[in-house]
Amino acid sequence: MFCRLFIFVQEAFSPLLANPLIHPPPAMRSPAASFSHTTSIHSDHPFRALREAANCSVPAACEQLGNPMAETIHLREAVRDVHDFPKPGIVFKDITPILGNSALFKDSIKLLAETAGDTTIDKVVGIDARGFIFASAVADRLNAGFVPIRKKGKLPSTTREAAYELEYGEAIVEIHEDAIKDGENILLIDDLLATGGTAAAALHLLDGLGANIINVSFLIELTFLEGRTKLGARPISSLISY
Ligand code: AMP
Repeated sequence: MFCRLFIFVQEAFSPLLANPLIHPPPAMRSPAASFSHTTSIHSDHPFRALREAANCSVPAACEQLGNPMAETIHLREAVRDVHDFPKPGIVFKDITPILGNSALFKDSIKLLAETAGDTTIDKVVGIDARGFIFASAVADRLNAGFVPIRKKGKLPSTTREAAYELEYGEAIVEIHEDAIKDGENILLIDDLLATGGTAAAALHLLDGLGANIINVSFLIELTFLEGRTKLGARPISSLISY
């Protein structure tokens, strides 16, 4: 019953509704679930070693095995599950413990920046709202510009918009139509990939502006929701997966 992507660009849409917050099935709720990094299809990628790693949940053991999963386990351990937020039945992946720790925040920015590989990035695009936190810092690190994709009604100049279906209703995201030049190298970042509707809508906007998508990068991916199947044949990375 989750979002079937239904994107279209037009002038008027129904009112903006809140993003869906996804409730993992019970089997996926345990914090003791083994760690596995999600795949990236980027070919010449510094994350290649990460995506080749096997399950690994103890940093010391990972290192002994030469498994670079240890590189992000400390981030995973810092993510806090908040049950029944913002409404009953939802398990919210709270990233504020990462943001509030200078070493963890720095590491998350470093690792997200590395998902660009060796390619020079012109613009890092962040998705409203937690995506902004990471994307702006990554943009600074990569000496790139930062572009926000916002919920409807927040951007002041001329926009393009894309709508996508939520569990109940529809959401709309917007981008300034002059934010991206044709052919620019883009790194798209959000905090979390769930059903993929939000990121797919963002990609639709970027495609429409002629963006060259170098990578789509998430701090967290809820793999059991298979959100990346909505993103097409894109290079996709996530630092933490459930
Ligand atoms: P989706 O469009 O289903 O992929 O949802 C992704 C967006 O919703 C991201 O911007 C997340 O911030 C937010 N989101 C969805 N599920 C959760 C969750 N369980 N915990 C925290 N944020 C979530």
